[in-house]
Formats: sequence, structure tokens, C-alpha cells
Amino acid sequence: MEEPLTHEYGEVRIPFRLWEALYHTLLTERERETKCFLVCQSLEMGDSTVFLVRELVPLREEDYEERSSARVVTRPEFVHALLQRCANEGLSLLEAHSHPWGGNARFSQVDHRSDLQKFQTTEVIPPPFRHGTLVFGSDMSFEGHLWDYTNREVVPIVRIKVLGEPYQIRYATNFAMPSLESALRTLYDRQVRALGDQGQTILSRLSVAIVGAGGMGSQAAMALTHLGVGHLTLIDPDRLEMSNLNRVVGALWFQAERRQPKVEALARHLNRVRPPSDWGVEPLPIDVREPLALAHLLSADVIVGAVDSAVVRHYLNLVAVCGLVPYLDAGVGVRAEGGQLREGGGQVQVILPGETACLTCVGHLVKQSVQEQLTPQQRAMSVARGYIQGEPVANPQVVFLNGVVANLLVWELVKLCTGCHAVQPYVYYNLLEQKAFPVDAPRNPDCFVCGDSNSLLGMGLVGIEGYQRRAEKSAPARIPPPRSSKAEPTTPALPKKKKRGRARRGK
Ligand SMILES: [Zn+2]
Repeated sequence: MEEPLTHEYGEVRIPFRLWEALYHTLLTERERETKCFLVCQSLEMGDSTVFLVRELVPLREEDYEERSSARVVTRPEFVHALLQRCANEGLSLLEAHSHPWGGNARFSQVDHRSDLQKFQTTEVIPPPFRHGTLVFGSDMSFEGHLWDYTNREVVPIVRIKVLGEPYQIRYATNFAMPSLESALRTLYDRQVRALGDQGQTILSRLSVAIVGAGGMGSQAAMALTHLGVGHLTLIDPDRLEMSNLNRVVGALWFQAERRQPKVEALARHLNRVRPPSDWGVEPLPIDVREPLALAHLLSADVIVGAVDSAVVRHYLNLVAVCGLVPYLDAGVGVRAEGGQLREGGGQVQVILPGETACLTCVGHLVKQSVQEQLTPQQRAMSVARGYIQGEPVANPQVVFLNGVVANLLVWELVKLCTGCHAVQPYVYYNLLEQKAFPVDAPRNPDCFVCGDSNSLLGMGLVGIEGYQRRAEKSAPARIPPPRSSKAEPTTPALPKKKKRGRARRGK
């Protein structure tokens, strides 16, 4: 179910708050066209350019040069000031206007001509500047395009990811959505009966990056494979050991004896479940902070984190918030004394950047509301599991707890992406009481990572790299270098776009 996107194309990711603002700005007036600007960070990912929307700039009546039911033109001074700001601050720009009289939005011939002219003019602004335009119909259907500097042509913006609930991946009206093939309809018949044709189609197009191929990550990968997700990337530098066989799904004893990378053993197993024509699974036996892993995290539709390390979890949180990718984090813990299981539990957190609490919001609240809702033992375990850093020790691990929590996570992922039921942003599972219950974990609007202003929300690579540089400076031991000793030689980088030579872009 890979998409036939072999040429350069564009994608837009937008926090829900800004999507709502866009809707109200563009479609309050139904008689005349309306225009606004979206100030973005851009990400260059292989053949795609991703616009991460940071801010909406509306127009006042006096900012229009012309405005009617068939045409909308902005005053040149207004646009010039915005372009100047983008050039100074390393930002990108999307122009959006409405065709408010109907659905199934399409650019008009006039739009095409004027956009081409604008794109050629703004070519002189140095990278990372990118320029695109969008047109929206009354139902927020859209068409979009941007300027490909390498081939000097207009290329389509094919999808907009709206970080709301449900998480919507909306495709452009000029992009043909392949429907579920009849063979797959048979394969997923029982599931389509529960999630509907549309739900199954959404899952079949979904690309998920799973970090951690241990007891919980392998269970989540297994369930996502059965669900029929379109693409899985498995990231974990660790190799199998005999002591993993009690909980790592799909791992075989001779693979552990040969100390094969966990992700390779897992990918081999998953590839036996479904025909390769149906999907793709990619094992990456490298540290999650290596550039190749980062590229995969940023291009995934959803990130799943199933790791013990607080450092890695906070890194994933940072990547998710900066790259506007939903992130589902899960952790488990078992407390035992002298071979007696005393306490066990786990939690699943759904981080929808800009909408639900991120790990930093919850960390901030760790002594407050979230922790107040747990028993003292649950609190101690939760702290031990993720929010206080320390050397990893050989904690007790049991497959039944991993399985429950991994599947709680997968259920939240299905709810988030298909909209079949309300998402529970934070769920705690108590093993001894056999109870899963929601915990109130409000987002902190002043969070320096995901908050509403001056945060890292949608800051792309600038945010990730800046944060890490600051973290390294203030506490060199906080973010250790990638563990490459255990990893296989690094696989080649994602196919990169040919360099956008500045020389080609004129001066
Ligand atoms: Zn936050």
C-alpha cells in the first residue's frame, strides 16, 4: 500500500489550534475569497518538503489590493514585509486562500499563473526558505503546490496532517487515493467489520516508527502488523540475548545464541505474517539519535516509544513536538522482593503535539495531579520507570504485563488515527488489581517544549538541534552520544534530494 509518490512533493503539518483558526479565517465570509499566510519551518525529507505551521497571519481589509468572489490580491508591501521576515528568521511561507462557494477545491488558471510568477520571484530568497500556496473549498478540501528549486517547476502539496482528534491525514483533491484492494478486504474482513472500510484504509496507509524492539515494542509491532498498517520502521541498536526470550515476540533461541540484532529478528518474523506486496517493514539496528533514525522518525505518521531510558523518551518527545508527529509512549514496571511479585503496572501516554500533554508537561506535573491520583507504590514505580534518570538495572520483566500495556497503546493509536472512539491521553494499568484507568494529565500551556508561545512546537530541526546543543552545554552527561558499539554498520542515508544549489537559484 505504498503511495505512488516518486517525484518531489509537499506535505503540511498543522497543530489543531491553527487548523481551527485557518478554518475560521478563510470561511467566515462566503461571498468573497479570503486570504491568509502561514509562517512555517520547513523540513527536507528525501523527496518531500514538509511545512510545519507555526503561525497564522490574517489579513485586514486594508491589506487587500483586490478582493471579490473570483479574485484575491494582497498589497505588495504586506507580502514584502512577510518575505523579509522569512528571509531574516530562516522561515518558510504558505499562502492560503478560499474558494468559499463550494467543496472539492481546485486552483483556477488565474491562481496557477500568478503562483508561478510569485514562485519565480521568491526564488532569490536563500534556503531554508520554501514557498507554497494552498486553496481551500467550503469543506476544507484543498489543493496545494510549491516550487521545486532543482527542476524549476511547480510540484503538488499532496497532504495536510491535522494534529487533532482524530488525527487527520487529508489528501489533496487532485491526489488519487488508492482504495482497499479486494485481496486485502478478505485479509482484514473481520477487522473491517469492527473499524469500517474507512478505518481499515486509514490504517493501511499509515507509517509507524517503533522505537524499542524489546518486550513491549515487539508486542506493539506484532499487533500493528495484524492491524494492517502500511509501513513499520523498527529502531533499536540492541542484540538479542537468551534473557530476552521470555518476552520478545518472534525472537528465536538460535537468534539469541548468535546475538542477532533485535529489529532484524523481529522484521523477519513480521514479514512472515503478511505478504510483502501488502506493506513494508524496515529494521534499523542503530541508536535512535543517529541521523538516519531521526529522518525516519520525522517522516513517520506516528512514533511509538517502548523504551526504558528516560533520556531516549525525552528525545522522542522533543522530535515529536518539533516535527509535529503524534507520539505514543508506554512504560511498564514490576517490583518484586525475593522472587515475589509485589507490584506491577504500566502507563500509556498519547502525545498529540499542541493538544495533549507532552512528557515535559507531565514531568512538570509529576509531583502534582498525575502523581496524586496514584497510590504511593504506583507513584514510586512511575518515577523509577521514566522520570528520574539513572543507570539501567536488570528489572523484573514479565510478558503478560508487556502484552497488556503494548495493546493498550495500540488501541489508543487506532482510536487516534481512525477516530472510532475518544482517545484517553494518559492511561495507567495496575497489574495486581487488573484495572486500567485514565489519569488526568493536563497539558501545560506554558511548557517550554510544547506550549502555546515561544515553545519548540513545530520548530523542526532548528528546535531539535538547538535544544540538544543547550542540553549538552548545561549538562554534558545528560544526553550521551549514540551507542554505536552495539550497532551494525550504519545503513545508507535516506535517498536525498539533489542539492538545491544556490547558484541555480540566482542572486
Ligand atoms: Zn509540554
